Amino acid sequence: MRRLSLLAFRWIIVVAVLEPLAASAFGAEARPVVVKNVVLLIVDGCSAEQYTLARWFKGTPLAIDEIRCGSVKTYIADSVIADSAPAATAFATGHFTNDKLIGVAPSVKTVTVSPPSADEQLRPLATLLEAARLQGKATGIVATSRVTHATPAAFMAHVTSRRFEEEIMEQAVHQGVNVVLGGGRDFAMPKAAGGARRDDEDLIEALRQRGYQIPTDREQLLKAGGNKVFGLFSLGPMAPEIDRPRRAPAEPTLAEMTRKAIELLSADEDGFFLMVEGSQVDWACHANDPAHMLSDLIAYDEAVAVALEFARRDGQTLLIALSDHNTGGMSIGNMRTSKTYPQTTIADLVEPLRKMRCSAVELWRQLSMGPDGKKLDVKGISPDAVRRVVKEGWGLEISEDEAQQILSVAVRDKGDPQNAFGEVLCPRHTVLGWTTHGHAGGDVPLHAFGPDRPVGTFDQPELARRMARAMGVDLDATTRRLFVEVGSVFASHEVEIDKAEPTNPIARIRHQNATAELPINKNILRIGGAEIALEGVVVQIAETGKIYIPQQAVRRIKGE
Ligand SMILES: [Zn+2]
Repeated sequence: MRRLSLLAFRWIIVVAVLEPLAASAFGAEARPVVVKNVVLLIVDGCSAEQYTLARWFKGTPLAIDEIRCGSVKTYIADSVIADSAPAATAFATGHFTNDKLIGVAPSVKTVTVSPPSADEQLRPLATLLEAARLQGKATGIVATSRVTHATPAAFMAHVTSRRFEEEIMEQAVHQGVNVVLGGGRDFAMPKAAGGARRDDEDLIEALRQRGYQIPTDREQLLKAGGNKVFGLFSLGPMAPEIDRPRRAPAEPTLAEMTRKAIELLSADEDGFFLMVEGSQVDWACHANDPAHMLSDLIAYDEAVAVALEFARRDGQTLLIALSDHNTGGMSIGNMRTSKTYPQTTIADLVEPLRKMRCSAVELWRQLSMGPDGKKLDVKGISPDAVRRVVKEGWGLEISEDEAQQILSVAVRDKGDPQNAFGEVLCPRHTVLGWTTHGHAGGDVPLHAFGPDRPVGTFDQPELARRMARAMGVDLDATTRRLFVEVGSVFASHEVEIDKAEPTNPIARIRHQNATAELPINKNILRIGGAEIALEGVVVQIAETGKIYIPQQAVRRIKGE
């Protein structure tokens, strides 16, 4: 008997030692490698054709070319064609969600995936940024849009509409992100101070009180140091890259913001998570504007080069570069080249684009600005004025008829008059084709570098889970830690919403002898005369009337 147990014991030792070796030797699923840093670079609205055009235009390979490794499917929970908010939410949380939703689960109205239970619908979902922060890593967000716009918002906030930019900014300011760089100062400032906030809260002051530096131009950014930097370089979105040198020379480039963010975040010995967005390729493609598209895509590629150079040097960084969906359905070749396409020279492709010296947005700004600087109604704009502005800005001699067409498209798309230039002029003066002013539903290229990089075709939530695995974090466990539904732990009579200030509601929980106050969209708990900083923000979902608070707050209120 004794001899038998000794034999069994020896066998156990042998298996424990050899198994992993065998697993890897024989190609079984290798244990995932945990990396120190994850850098995710999203170019909004870009697909394979746009990369190809940028490469011809640049005349040299793109930095991104050498790390292409697969594809990303771009459908969302309620559509085969994505919107940026749910796409970014999928990349951030590992879950599909519906159109316009930010950092929350879908409603029951899904078409491509099975619906959540009624209980789970629209519930906040933890993001890679929140999970990395709770793991002690530094975190950063960089964008050329407002930092409250769909993609950056999906990593920092939880709201049921991408339009709720006041709430998104409030959550971002209370999210404890180390580095946030981009546009959108207006949603941090009260209306009275020239901002856009209706709740009159001065979040710039709130950031200062939390110890943040707030650079507002390149020079200040380059001087910034420490691990709390919230740079807001424009009131609204930053300038299109092609217009920046003339319209906003004090704004930093995407590559400069990326380099600075990495410099600040890499000082953290626990590592970091950084999301960088080239936001405006999407806007350019909505407008069918190749000039804006090329300038912002090449600027994005320069930011990728900066991050890649760091990842190579560092060796413990997983870098993923991708887009969330295609916008505009751009093609190299259009109806005009249906018969001539095999004779299309590089000059045919790029020469017309080289003459374009500003974005379509800038063309329309110049066109619609009266001599007194006031905005002109489109009816007050003459075809001659259109021809003059197009000649100066895009280097094209156009006919009276084309100018008329541009004005009528501008009337049709009153909200986006800049759509007119690309729609009317590209089919005749370039070899580019556009199929829509909206998004398109095809797979988009995947690029990655570093340990355990994903190779193959993935849906968007899968890539979030690959990044979570790489950092050794569990997104769903983090959701349970940060977002406890108040009604599941407190009786309904114990909970009320104080709406004395409608734009600044407060959740009040009276439990046994304790009264707790939790301002919505902040990470603050007031109880027993103390103010406690919570490890996550308090979220209210108006559609379900539910409130979500961190476990940490529940324990405190219950006196555990
Ligand atoms: Zn878009």
